[in-house]
Amino acid sequence: MNPFTYTRAAHADDAIRLAGEGNARYLGGGTNLVDLMRETIERPAALVDVTGLSGTIEETADGGLLIGAAARNTAVAEHRVVRTRFPALSRAIVAGASAQIRNMATVGGNILQRTRCSYFYDESGSRCNKRQPGQGCDAIGGFNRMHAILGASPDCAATHPSDLCVALAAFDAKVHLRSADGERTLPLTELHRLPGNQPEKDTVLRPGELITAVEVPALTAASTYRKVRDRSSYAFALVSVAAALRVEGGVVSDVRIALGGVAPKPWRAWTAEAALRGGPATARQFHTAAEAELADAVPLRDNAFKIELARRTITAVLTGLLGDPR
Ligand SMILES: Cc1cc2nc3c(=O)[nH]c(=O)nc-3n(C[C@H](O)[C@H](O)[C@H](O)COP(=O)(O)OP(=O)(O)OC[C@H]3O[C@@H](n4cnc5c(N)ncnc54)[C@H](O)[C@@H]3O)c2cc1C
Ligand code: SF4
Repeated sequence: MNPFTYTRAAHADDAIRLAGEGNARYLGGGTNLVDLMRETIERPAALVDVTGLSGTIEETADGGLLIGAAARNTAVAEHRVVRTRFPALSRAIVAGASAQIRNMATVGGNILQRTRCSYFYDESGSRCNKRQPGQGCDAIGGFNRMHAILGASPDCAATHPSDLCVALAAFDAKVHLRSADGERTLPLTELHRLPGNQPEKDTVLRPGELITAVEVPALTAASTYRKVRDRSSYAFALVSVAAALRVEGGVVSDVRIALGGVAPKPWRAWTAEAALRGGPATARQFHTAAEAELADAVPLRDNAFKIELARRTITAVLTGLLGDPR
């Protein structure tokens, strides 16, 4: 590990000022960043601890949620309103990592955690364009069972690892950002980038920009999250689906679907949603919509199974929601 300074910020302006003083990184629970520093993949000169900033979980006037970026994942998953009105959010968090890690991890840090591509972490043995631009990518021609089937480029096929982000993407969540230039709000679906020829840029964040909160609009549809993985705990998604469905008179009046484990960013299934909205709510329609979403999927050597797995998981999750009267 390289030497670094540590400062704990008392409020957001403080954090932004401290982070502007050189090669600094914000520190949430440290469960990803400190690992990357230990491996010398991240080499910040300064850490600005932001866990003392707002971590409140509030209901908004319209029935949505405003979650401070410093909220711990466990606190969000256990919150009464989250569990009862946004069950997919709660289930997505609990499907991730271990209880100990969730107790430390923050919402801001979970959104900005880096890919788990094993070549990215193997600094001394593998080539990785995300770690070192222009170096090449050993995953594309290597062992790529966990990699992306949607949105990848010839320069990078890493998947985005966050479960929480998949649920946030399905629910039209917005990310509140603050920097020395002021405040802005972005849909979560626009925060993460596809790799293109610049895989080193994970997001559209500006230098020093701080996530202050995440806003989730009210949701009246039934929702859930399903994660398919190699082990029942402590494993990243092969495929995951967050979905919300509202059916009136047998017709789909509201549907939101997002996928994890299949793309370099949380993948909102806009094509499947458009195919379903206003049509009959049947398993056959769900399957057809899933097929449409995956029509452009491009498998690598080891991950073609994800196409069928994603189709089946989308269909099963939506069919399961038909029985939820919410
Ligand atoms: C063994 C293991 C298994 C795991 N399994 C899963 C899993 O199945 N699913 C899953 O989703 N996750 C999983 N994780 C990842 C874990 O959820 C993340 O490490 C955690 O959510 C990151 O949160 P943190 O607060 O510790 O972030 P940190 O490690 O502190 O920070 C991560 C990044 O976010 C930045 N950051 C933090 N807060 C802010 C902010 N407010 N504004 C701007 N930037 C900020 C940091 O600078 C850093 O770049 C696993 C991790 C481990 C170690
Ligand atoms: S897939 Fe992306 S993260 Fe993985 S080795 Fe290739 S460039 Fe690096």
